[in-house]
Amino acid sequence: MDKIEQQLLQYVDDHKEEMIKFLGDLVKINSITGYEKEAQEFVRKKMDEIGAETEFLEPDLKQMFEKFPEVAQLPSIGEEGLDMPLMTDDKFTYEQIMASPFDRLKSYKDRPDVIGRIKGTGGGRSLILNGHIDTVPIGDASKWKHDPFGAEIEDGKMYGRGSVDMKGGIATMLFAVEALQKLGIKLKGDLMMQSVVNEEHAGGGTLGAVAAGLTADAAIVTEPSGNSGTIEDGSNGGVYWQVVIKGREAHAGYRWKGGEQFGVSANEKSAFIIANLLKMESEVNKEGTRMSFCVGKLHGGTYATATAPECVINGVAYFYPQLGTGPAGINKVKKLIRDAVFGVDDPWLKANPPELKFQHYDDAYKLDYSRDAIFKNVAGSIKDVLGLDHKVKVAGGGCDARHLGNQGGIPAIVYGPGSAALAHSTDEFIELDDYIKAIKVLAVAIYRWCNGV
Ligand SMILES: [Zn+2]
Repeated sequence: MDKIEQQLLQYVDDHKEEMIKFLGDLVKINSITGYEKEAQEFVRKKMDEIGAETEFLEPDLKQMFEKFPEVAQLPSIGEEGLDMPLMTDDKFTYEQIMASPFDRLKSYKDRPDVIGRIKGTGGGRSLILNGHIDTVPIGDASKWKHDPFGAEIEDGKMYGRGSVDMKGGIATMLFAVEALQKLGIKLKGDLMMQSVVNEEHAGGGTLGAVAAGLTADAAIVTEPSGNSGTIEDGSNGGVYWQVVIKGREAHAGYRWKGGEQFGVSANEKSAFIIANLLKMESEVNKEGTRMSFCVGKLHGGTYATATAPECVINGVAYFYPQLGTGPAGINKVKKLIRDAVFGVDDPWLKANPPELKFQHYDDAYKLDYSRDAIFKNVAGSIKDVLGLDHKVKVAGGGCDARHLGNQGGIPAIVYGPGSAALAHSTDEFIELDDYIKAIKVLAVAIYRWCNGV
């Protein structure tokens, strides 16, 4: 640790209270996916204060669909969850979105990314710091013990929607950069902060930034990576699916006609399909977990006394990068699901094939270890700042590192405060001690990276 690095750590220690207060103020601004503007204005103001050159960049839907048709998604709105108002056989095309009656999904109007740039003095390596401002909805408010927008602090934890996923990470990047700026530390490489919209369910904020040509020699996504000693070097992908199964409705008392089955419940057939999907999952996972398959929602039938005419199942197959990164992994998982849904050996299902639709995709990502300088940089910063040997894992859910890495070709890793296991949950919280530690590590990592230390 050189003298400048010691100063950075001291700066963070001396300004802890302000850093915690700022995070609380950010948590208090509701920024559920689709309603990010107010929080983005707040973040931009902070970037201005620390001397960055800032701009609002509205993700350009047309541009991202043109450049990355296989991974671009329609913009999503938090309270509508994942049940998007459109459903096609495969992922939505730009033309389908434009032809739909849902105007709010046709652009990112009033949903800008905030970009903050600090120009380097030259000769160093450039770096992108990326985080998302949007959060999932709060769910059932009565289940929260703490006000979801109260930023209440108890036992060193700050509670609130978005506290860990990932306003903590946004604040971490802002204060790591503030420490460098306030101490007057010059960076050789260009530094770019990105506070993006619509990471949840879509990844459109980051994909928009990539499609607009924003790039750097490396990127750090400040999503919660577990604790301040853990780096994520990849993220899982996900394929969202829906199966509609047809039955034949009949009064329960008339299920059998002349010894033949007449009434067929779509619900009983759904059991066969689910069993086949889970069999596929266990085969994929024979030599280690590669897939995390979820039957999330099931709805079928009208009365207890009638065989169900229809059953609709919705779910997601999360999958590890080992099954394939980028569009190739998505296509492989789609084929596995298709084969399982249509491969049930049942005469009714053969004669009345179910309907399978795919709704939404996240590609899986894994750092290219032939370009892992940024990984080594952060691992070294963890060691020197915290005295810990770093741990490494892959993010369990989707993460915008995939767009920076797969679509942008930028070596990207995930390093940020808190545990992602608490993300999206009731009484979500962040450990404040972890938040402060991550600011220190990140400040040192930026300094070393951009100056080639
Ligand atoms: Zn997140």
